[in-house]
Amino acid sequence: MHKKDFPLIFELSKSGRTSYSLPEMDVEETDLDEMLDPLYIRQEAPALPELSELDIIRHYTNLSRRNYGVDSGFYPLGSCTMKYNPKMNEDVARLEGFSHIHPYQKAETAQGALEMMYDLQTSLQEITGMHTVSLQPAAGAQGEWTGLIMIRALHEANGEKQRTKVIVPDSAHGTNPASVTAAGLEVVTVKTNEEGLVDLYNLKSVVGSDTAALMLTNPNTLGLFETEIIEMARIVHQAGGRLYYDGANLNAIMGYTRPGDMGFDVVHLNLHKTFTGPHGGGGPGSGPVGVSEELTSFLPKPVLVKQADNFVFDYNRPDSIGRVKPYYGNFGINLRAYTYIRTMGAEGLKKVSEYAVLNANYMMRRLQEVFELPYKQHCKHEFVLSGRKQKRLGVRTLDMAKRLLDFGYHPPTIYFPLNVEEAMMIEPTETEAKETLDGFIETMLQIAEEVKDDPEYVQEAPHTTVVKRMDETTAARKPILKYE
Ligand SMILES: *Cc1c(COP(=O)(O)O)cnc(C)c1O
Repeated sequence: MHKKDFPLIFELSKSGRTSYSLPEMDVEETDLDEMLDPLYIRQEAPALPELSELDIIRHYTNLSRRNYGVDSGFYPLGSCTMKYNPKMNEDVARLEGFSHIHPYQKAETAQGALEMMYDLQTSLQEITGMHTVSLQPAAGAQGEWTGLIMIRALHEANGEKQRTKVIVPDSAHGTNPASVTAAGLEVVTVKTNEEGLVDLYNLKSVVGSDTAALMLTNPNTLGLFETEIIEMARIVHQAGGRLYYDGANLNAIMGYTRPGDMGFDVVHLNLHKTFTGPHGGGGPGSGPVGVSEELTSFLPKPVLVKQADNFVFDYNRPDSIGRVKPYYGNFGINLRAYTYIRTMGAEGLKKVSEYAVLNANYMMRRLQEVFELPYKQHCKHEFVLSGRKQKRLGVRTLDMAKRLLDFGYHPPTIYFPLNVEEAMMIEPTETEAKETLDGFIETMLQIAEEVKDDPEYVQEAPHTTVVKRMDETTAARKPILKYE
């Protein structure tokens, strides 16, 4: 990109230009030098940009238009649940009673906020079928780590220190094996069978007296429901292990089934996915954990409890794994999730699951005419296509993803899960209208035609964006964040 296309705010700066006006001084002028040690007085003015108010507004408005988000277009990024975040959430999060409180405030002066947190815990317990929920973890991955540390603590308390292995399917989200390692445990991989489900024979052969847990999501990362989950839970429990549920994407099953009923002992949820916390770009998340009764005493402390009519933090938890986050979780995101749950209601959440599954299946069945569908059964909230056919014509999934940018779409998740060649993982979410789904489908079909007619054009995409293909590896590994 040429500098002129998008000048930095420092390049727009003109010495002496301001966007403020101070009232006339009505007190006597004082010399700072006389009041302070010269050590603390800067010798030169800070190098801040000097602009008019209008220039600033234009600069940031134009910058924001270069961004892409759920509010600007369709965002079918599989496993990320880029659904609409209702603006009602924002109104509630800005209410003074919530936004002007402080975590060091005495609990008796913040009972409304604590009641909200308690109600949210209770709602999440109901939705997941778990005994107790803690709102502390600030992200899905942190919830995973917290849950695994609790399972480890349970085994240690039972005198079973040798239980160090966590069984994870080969299709799992990357954070799963990472959390296992971060929790000081070891990953054992279990294979996926031809239907895209956990291979039960393989599972039986890897469980044993060293099994700490089976870590799973259901529907799994291919968007398929693990129909043998009750049998899997039996196998793992019989061997003395526990079941961990990755509930980052709950919008396929809410109101229909619950991890607790499937036999899971610990679950984390991503409130910033399923429960409409705005996310992406590293914004704040919330990854509450829910546990079965057996694990309740290990929960991070303090635990928010209700005593008579008061909401208080219980610090007297001798088995607790301790705090996992300062204060009590990302309050603002929890509040948005609470608002969402209360506005949807139980029936509304059920409808969410229905539409998420319907939208995904509608898209999958139309796209399978042109793209290879490795697993044929109905999907849940997302599905995975393979770009193998197109690759044979010389066009990779990456090229097609880049071509989608020309049409103004955010591409799906690609090259994940790892067990599907040239994977495209598509999650339309429940909040999209049929016309939006059709628009994306037509575009995908058109790109498939282009792959046949003019593969080079797709290989060279994108053609209309401000920047072309970037060196993503170097950008991630050696980012230059400073303007030279
Ligand atoms: C997003 C996601 C995670 C990780 O959640 P973060 O909040 O990004 O840490 C874990 N598992 C699955 C299946 C996910 O989709």
